[in-house]
Amino acid sequence: MSAMGVVLVLSDAVRDISRHHTQSVFLDDRVLVADTVREVLAAKQKWARWSRKLGLEENDQKVVALAQTQAQRLAFERRGLSQSQISGQLRILGVDYLSQGCDGYGSTRQQKTVQALGWRLARAPLPAEVRTSLYRSRIIPSLCWGWWFQDMPAEVFNQAYAVFRKVATVHHMAARNLRVIMDGHQLCPYFVAFAQAFTQLRSLVLKGLPWPGHGQRHSWVERVRDTLGAGGGGALALGRWTHPTEGNMDVQHDNKDKVLHLVRESWRRSHWEAFLAKDRRDSRFLRGTAYHPRRYKWAAEAFRDGGQHVKAVLTGAALSLSVQQVIFEGAVQQGCGLCGDAEAFPTWEHLAWDCAGFAARPARPGDPLSCRFGWPQRAGPPGRVVVEHLAAVREQVLGFRPHGRRGARL
Ligand SMILES: [Zn+2]
Repeated sequence: MSAMGVVLVLSDAVRDISRHHTQSVFLDDRVLVADTVREVLAAKQKWARWSRKLGLEENDQKVVALAQTQAQRLAFERRGLSQSQISGQLRILGVDYLSQGCDGYGSTRQQKTVQALGWRLARAPLPAEVRTSLYRSRIIPSLCWGWWFQDMPAEVFNQAYAVFRKVATVHHMAARNLRVIMDGHQLCPYFVAFAQAFTQLRSLVLKGLPWPGHGQRHSWVERVRDTLGAGGGGALALGRWTHPTEGNMDVQHDNKDKVLHLVRESWRRSHWEAFLAKDRRDSRFLRGTAYHPRRYKWAAEAFRDGGQHVKAVLTGAALSLSVQQVIFEGAVQQGCGLCGDAEAFPTWEHLAWDCAGFAARPARPGDPLSCRFGWPQRAGPPGRVVVEHLAAVREQVLGFRPHGRRGARL
């Protein structure tokens, strides 16, 4: 039977049962919602009667009941449902509904399918830019759909990032936090999932509907509040939040883009702070350097326009001969093979700013962020002189082969 045929055949039944019960019907699938087990089973019996009248047969094996309490679970069992048909979690049109006290999200079959698609994309013989674009348009929307009642767990985010590393050919030594903010919020499942939860909640409230699940765990309101408060903020009142660095946000009265902009800034700032807290050489070097939105914007523009070495330098995947020596030989060696200085250690600082092998270079910036990562201090191409110099140094270091060693891919 065609989809339109199913709708026509079931239309009288849908209208009749909707008069007394809350339900959502999609072709021959339906969700029945009621305050008590008795009511929901009464609605189920009405559907069984209608189906017999129409010459159809209900498939009881496909019935799944969401029990929110132990009493409801026992009530369903007493009325004939098997334990396997009673769940603490339901997934309806891609959205998980949990009973109170249930924390089990884990990886669903849908996420595993999305992951499998992502790995296939990672192996596709396409340029990294094309694969990244497909990841943004095909993988991210499926992966991020439905996280309305709970933040995306770190497990799901980490699995997605493992795929993304291959898809976009992320440099092995890049700082993940820097790479995430350079790639931007549209490629971050965590952010996209939150933006959907926030936008849909806002639409609901602006239509005058009650705040869904206010004060309940795993509810829509609490999920949005938790993420907005993740940077140390807190709720001022229902629908209003304050953030220590971004200021106040009002879901109902502020422009949606303004709120999402503030959340993006908070998201970037938290990644920057997470990067500084890492036990990395560059994190230690930059500790105490505050996040600055304008510096980030100029760096992100250089990242977007730059080649692989520019992208690497901007995200902490700079590479010195000293680092190569530690990786391949276990210890740093005195003497720079690029300029022949027997006294110098070929560190990033030496290669970028002292090495005679790179004599044609801009003056060493006093600003540590520019000096180490080449993050521009001004807009446009004039601000990119330093990062382009550092990218050229990285390229030459990668091609350098001391003692007949093969070039490294780091
Ligand atoms: Zn040198």
